[in-house]
Amino acid sequence: MPRYQDFYRQSIDQPDAFWREQARLVDWEHPFDRVCDFSRPPFAKWFVGGRTNLCHNAVDRHAATRPDAPALVYLSTETDQEKTYSYAELKVEVMRMAASMKSLGVGKGDRVLIYMPMIAEAAFAMLACARIGAIHSVVFGGFAAGSLATRIDDAKPKLIVSAEAGMRNGKEVPYKHLLDDAIDQSQFPPEKVLMVDRGLHPNWQRVEGRDMDYASLRARHLDAQVPCEWLESSEPSYILYTSGTTGKPKGVQRDTGGYTVALAASMKHIYCGNAGETMFTTSDIGWVVGHSYIVYGPLIAGMTTIMYEGTPLRPDAGIWWQIVERFKVNVMFSSPTAVRVLKKQDPAYLHQYDLSSLKHLFLAGEPLDQPTHQWIMGELNKPVIDNYWQTETGWPMLSTVRGVEDTPIRFGTPAFPVFGYNLKIFREDGSECDANEKGIVAVVPPLPPGCLSTVWGDDDRFVKTYFSLFKEPQVYSSFDWGIRDEQGYHFILGRTDDVINVAGHRLGTREIEEAVQGHPAIAEVAVVGVQDAVKGQMPVAFAVVKDASRVASAENRTALEKEVMKAVDESLGAIARPSRVYFVNLLPKTRSGKLLRRSLQALAEGRDPGDLTTIEDQSALEQIRSALAG
Ligand code: ATP
Ligand code: MG
Repeated sequence: MPRYQDFYRQSIDQPDAFWREQARLVDWEHPFDRVCDFSRPPFAKWFVGGRTNLCHNAVDRHAATRPDAPALVYLSTETDQEKTYSYAELKVEVMRMAASMKSLGVGKGDRVLIYMPMIAEAAFAMLACARIGAIHSVVFGGFAAGSLATRIDDAKPKLIVSAEAGMRNGKEVPYKHLLDDAIDQSQFPPEKVLMVDRGLHPNWQRVEGRDMDYASLRARHLDAQVPCEWLESSEPSYILYTSGTTGKPKGVQRDTGGYTVALAASMKHIYCGNAGETMFTTSDIGWVVGHSYIVYGPLIAGMTTIMYEGTPLRPDAGIWWQIVERFKVNVMFSSPTAVRVLKKQDPAYLHQYDLSSLKHLFLAGEPLDQPTHQWIMGELNKPVIDNYWQTETGWPMLSTVRGVEDTPIRFGTPAFPVFGYNLKIFREDGSECDANEKGIVAVVPPLPPGCLSTVWGDDDRFVKTYFSLFKEPQVYSSFDWGIRDEQGYHFILGRTDDVINVAGHRLGTREIEEAVQGHPAIAEVAVVGVQDAVKGQMPVAFAVVKDASRVASAENRTALEKEVMKAVDESLGAIARPSRVYFVNLLPKTRSGKLLRRSLQALAEGRDPGDLTTIEDQSALEQIRSALAG
């Protein structure tokens, strides 16, 4: 791979020259004096002394040159609404929101917590914060009161922007009482709450003096002119809490200049998204993918972004592809979980639409198993690109970088380190792994632009959590296991706390899951390590079958269990064979679609499943309990 290799090498060997070039993708109100200040490792400051603004780069500069180009399409199959905002209209709405926030006393450096469904006002609120230099903290709409209260107390927002309800699967999800409960529980309640009334829940309770109605505030600011607040590059743009898959969420703090440059560079080189094209990212604004690739990234690139409120299955399993056809989507971004949901449906849904506009489908968030990767790429007949990253990094760490070179796509691997990431695989003693040797995925600092600058309000936690893997060298730990082959392709094998130790053999849950998934009857699987008196730990699998009739009787279940065990024996050897394979209809996941392995493991070991406030569907746990009970 001569070209990408050169590009990557330059980013590592001559980072100043490399990032200076990328920084030209962004408007600066005042140029930076230094590309990187790494005088206080592991803290890195990018584009020191430069002044810029995220909202200017995402909205104003395009509104000035292409005012009528579509910027944001809000599309809801929950409420059957659809509205397109041009760049000029988006700018006006953002200024109305910004003026409303300012009228409530919000200014530079103040935190604004956004607890909203996937409606256009949520994007206006994020961009309005960026515009006035307020720090937003988006919390996934519908999160339980307890989870919300923890985040309120950590971010201490002056204002919360919310709506009375969300909609999911055609049903209303009331938010307002959750918000009120959370504020009651919190020690640092906001002064004001700005309510967007969607008209879904007519009699929501208003708290006098605190709750403000957005429609009436907006009406007072229809012609508001709110200039962008220029921020020094390192000043924070937002706080975002990690998904909480492995415990207490951490408040990731993002800068302004580095993030803008990183997103612009990723849009160009990784996502191949150009001004005038359309991007459809199926995530939620509550997650990092939503921040970077529903709101900021595509807008910075001057694209049209589709903000979709709805599931992949309603009104039917063809809805995504219908959206691709109608809006001539060029770049699509989703998650392996969502693709596995579609894999259980008739592929005819996909084939009835014209998908010729689509260049690539990107998937991220969890391991993309080989069978799923192969299936979706075959059905779409387009490149499907796995990318590996974290809330902390804000943009991909491993990916095929198609904007630089058309390297071949291999199934089951997110390929190569992305430019800027000096990513290596380490043994537990701090030395580097050889090719094909399993180790911990880590990044030699400085972390590139766009990554977390610290943990909100807790520099100490930043260093202790992320940079204390070894005494020497000081590296950023991803807490994931990985492997690199001779050709430089990387494989993510699971989280460091997901490793199963069977009689001294360390097995990644991911490897076993992949082997189970190789059986054609299995749609989805979770493998956890369960304590075993003899072997230390034994893998146990919880599997969802494609066709429920395969596990209708006890005999069928036993037969399929044996087949699955055999499939694992054949691909990994008997050492990795699950001691049991339980069949369920649903696996417990976080609301961002990640498996809650620690809860599964606890249940399988007869322990309390722990903090479950981020779980998507409680009934999944009931199924696990009854499967375990036999
Ligand atoms: P928390 O850190 O709070 O426990 P989380 O790690 O689930 O939550 P995210 O930042 O949303 O929160 O997820 C990042 C993690 O998701 C990665 O560390 C990795 O384990 C997994 N992941 C993301 N993308 C991929 C991918 N393409 N392949 C394999 N794993 C992935
Ligand atoms: Mg994590």
